Amino acid sequence: MSQVSAIALFSGGLDSILACRVIMAQGIRVIALKFVTPFFDDHLLDREDAYQEEVRRKYGIEVRLVDLSEGYVQLVANPAHGYGKHFNPCIDCKIYMLGRARTMLPEYKASFLISGEVLGQRPMSQRMDTLRVIERESGCAGILLRPLCARRLPETDPERTGLVRRELLHAMSGRGRKEQIRLAAEFGIGEYPSPAGGCMLTDPNLGERIARYYQDRALMQAEGPRAADIRLLLVGRQFRLPGGHWFVLGRNEAENERIAVLAEPGDWLLTMRDRPGPTGLLRRGLADSPVDSGEERKLMELAGGLVARYGRKTGGRPLPAEVRIERNGEPCGLTAAPLPDDVFREWQL
Ligand code: SF4
Repeated sequence: MSQVSAIALFSGGLDSILACRVIMAQGIRVIALKFVTPFFDDHLLDREDAYQEEVRRKYGIEVRLVDLSEGYVQLVANPAHGYGKHFNPCIDCKIYMLGRARTMLPEYKASFLISGEVLGQRPMSQRMDTLRVIERESGCAGILLRPLCARRLPETDPERTGLVRRELLHAMSGRGRKEQIRLAAEFGIGEYPSPAGGCMLTDPNLGERIARYYQDRALMQAEGPRAADIRLLLVGRQFRLPGGHWFVLGRNEAENERIAVLAEPGDWLLTMRDRPGPTGLLRRGLADSPVDSGEERKLMELAGGLVARYGRKTGGRPLPAEVRIERNGEPCGLTAAPLPDDVFREWQL
C-alpha cells in the first residue's frame, strides 16, 4: 500500500510545526505549504532552497513556498468576514489559503489537510463557530484535521476511515502555551519562533498605512490593488506629492537597495550624486496626465528636494544636492534645494 499523504498549512510557528509532527508520527507523509504574500514572508521567495533546508534540518518537515500575492491583495480589499483589530482579514485569509491548499491535494496525492489551529486560542478566527465557517467556505468540511485540538472537534474523514488514529491526536484549547511547549520537548524541538508572527496586516502602523492605500482610489488606480504596489508601500518613508504622485524614500542602505529593485517601467528613480543620501522612487508620475515640461520640472524639483532634505547633512543642515533622476532608463539630473519641513509635512503618509 502506498504511503498516505497530507498537506499542512504551515505558518512556521510552533503550532503548525507540531501539527505536522503529530501527523508524521502516525507514519503519514506531510507536505507543508507555506503561503507567502507581500504582507507576510515573501522575502523567503529569494531564498527558497535555504528555507526548505532550514525547516528540514530543524523540524524534519518538508516545506514548499506558495506565492498567493495577486489574488490575496484583492481579497484584502473587501473581505466578506471583515477585519480583525487592525487590517487583518484573518477569517477570509484562512478560507483563501485552505481553498488553495485543497486544490493542491491531487498534485501531492494527498488525502486530507491539516492546520495548527487551537480551539479558543485567538478571539476572532479560532472560535468553534468560526472554525466551522472556515471549513465550510473553503470547501474543506470533513477533510480538514486540526491535530492539536482534534479531540475537541467532531471526527473528520481521515479519522473515520482509519487513516489517522484519533486517540493519538490532542485536545488543546485556549491561549496557554504549556501543552505546546511540552509536546515540542517530546519531539525534541528546542528552537522555534515566538508566536508573535510576521503578518504586517496585524501591525498597527503598517496596517493603517495599508488601509490608507486601499481607501485611496487615486493611489491604487483603476486596475485595483497590485502586489507590486504593496511591496513598495511597505518600505521607507511614504509621501503623496501635490497632484497625487506617490513618492517613496529609503531610510537606510537596505531600503535604498530594495526600492531600486522595486522600480517598474514608468517609475522615476532618484539618487544623490555628490554625497550619501536616500534613494527615491516616484510612482504614478505623469503617466496619466498630459506631459508638459513645466509640470514635469516642478515634480522633479519637489522629488529632488525631498532627496536633498534627507541626504547627509553638513553642520546639522541639509544642503542642495546633485540629484540623478532615471526615467525609463534615461538619466537626467538637477541641482535640488532641500525642501523645508513645513512644506512637505502634510504630504507624509
Ligand atoms: S494574521 Fe495575517 S496571515 Fe495570519 S490569518 Fe490573519 S491575516 Fe492571515
